[in-house]
Amino acid sequence: MQTQLATRFKNSAEAKEAERIIGACVHCGFCNATCPTYQLLGDELDGPRGRIYLIKQVLEGQPATERTQQHLDRCLTCRNCETTCPSGVEYGHLIDVGRTLVEREVARRPTDRTLRAALREGLTGSWFAPTLKLGRRSAAGCRSRSATPCRSRSRPAHGRCAGSAGACC
Ligand code: SF4
Ligand code: SF4
Repeated sequence: MQTQLATRFKNSAEAKEAERIIGACVHCGFCNATCPTYQLLGDELDGPRGRIYLIKQVLEGQPATERTQQHLDRCLTCRNCETTCPSGVEYGHLIDVGRTLVEREVARRPTDRTLRAALREGLTGSWFAPTLKLGRRSAAGCRSRSATPCRSRSRPAHGRCAGSAGACC
C-alpha cells in the first residue's frame, strides 16, 4: 500500500518508518483471521488491516481523533496477525510507531478539546454570549435606520424594517 506523506511528516523518521512498513501491506485481510480484537468486536477498524489503514490516513494528513486513538489502543500487541500475513508486514513495530504519532497528533489539537468542553457547558459560557445576544436581537426585529429593507424574520417594532444590504441589523 502506497502512502503519500503529508508535508509535516516529510522529515519525520518515524513517519518514514511507518510508510516503509505500510508499503509491504497488500490489504488482503488475512491477518484479521488471527486477530483477537477483530474476532471479538467484528469491526474492521479493530483489526490489523483497519489499524494499518488508520495510521496511513493520519500520515497522509487526515486528522487523528480520540476515536482513532481508541482503535489503536484496543490492539493487544500480541502480534498474532503477523503469523498469517503473507507479506511479512512488521505490524508490531508499526503499531508502536502509529500510537506515538497519533498520540502526538491528538495532543496538538487543543482547540477541539476546548470547543467540546464549551459545548458540554451548554453553550452558556461567556465565549458564546455574543452569538446568543445577536440571535436575540434578530428575533426582536430589525432596528436599523437605513432605508433599505432587510430580511429580518420578525416584524420590527417600528412597523417598517429598514436594515441595510439585505442583512438584519
Ligand atoms: S495480512 Fe498482511 S498484507 Fe494482508 S492486510 Fe494484513 S498486514 Fe496487510
Ligand atoms: S497485535 Fe494482536 S490485537 Fe493487535 S492487530 Fe495484531 S492480532 Fe490484533
